[in-house]
Amino acid sequence: MEILEKTDTNLRIIIRDADVPLVNALRRIALAEVPTMAIEEVVMIENSSILQDEIIAHRLGLTPLKTDLDSYNLPEECPCQSEFGCLQCRATLTLDAEAKEGTRTVYSGEIVSENPDVIPVSDKIPIIKLAKNQKLKLEAYARLGRGKTHAKWQPVSMCAYKYYPKITPPAEKCDECSRCVDICPKKVLAVKDEKVEVRDLLACNLCMDCVEACPQEPSPLKVEWEKNAFIMNIESTGALPPERILQEATKTLGKQLDEIEHLLEAEPQ
Ligand SMILES: [Zn+2]
Repeated sequence: MEILEKTDTNLRIIIRDADVPLVNALRRIALAEVPTMAIEEVVMIENSSILQDEIIAHRLGLTPLKTDLDSYNLPEECPCQSEFGCLQCRATLTLDAEAKEGTRTVYSGEIVSENPDVIPVSDKIPIIKLAKNQKLKLEAYARLGRGKTHAKWQPVSMCAYKYYPKITPPAEKCDECSRCVDICPKKVLAVKDEKVEVRDLLACNLCMDCVEACPQEPSPLKVEWEKNAFIMNIESTGALPPERILQEATKTLGKQLDEIEHLLEAEPQ
């Protein structure tokens, strides 16, 4: 593995010596199985805004929360087994907003959490607009969940991979036309000293437009991909660092495989 780019919310890596089933399994687990925190229940104390309680609850549910994976249990795995949850499987957040001066927007930054580690990933997510004298007061309960139950628990806004491209530019100078260079939307190719060369290999998404644009038949330009190398991009919603999402996905895959092994052993001969 090689890290190409790493920020707080984005991770771009090259994976070598792997195959599609493995990389795709990691992608699917990252989308559907890695748990994150999201608001699951809202108790409305006062709502004099024009939006119904349900719409506000839905907006709150879709507000990504920073997730403290190590301090919370999934509700179904929590020893309390209570439908109301306990401190190990539930975080309480409150919102108390009023438009005293005139119309104003209530942002996610006004949500107060009992746990400073479980807060909205951004303070700037608009929740509701209140007109003068309107009020919104509520208590919300966040719980861990999985993307396969509801997209609000998905830790990634994007998780995708592509084959590692392999581009062979024409060995010799070709005719004046630079159609392959001009057509590429990603500007992968460039002309240097009248020769076509690869400018940005990793940007190539194998669309083949350059090969098709070439008037020569067969085209001296070759675009292929490596069968066992991939570029994977994980973009986190901010709930978890992207590298943690990948680590958790690998752990989950391991657990699932262990389970299969277990079931095979339990099966009578
Ligand atoms: Zn509990």
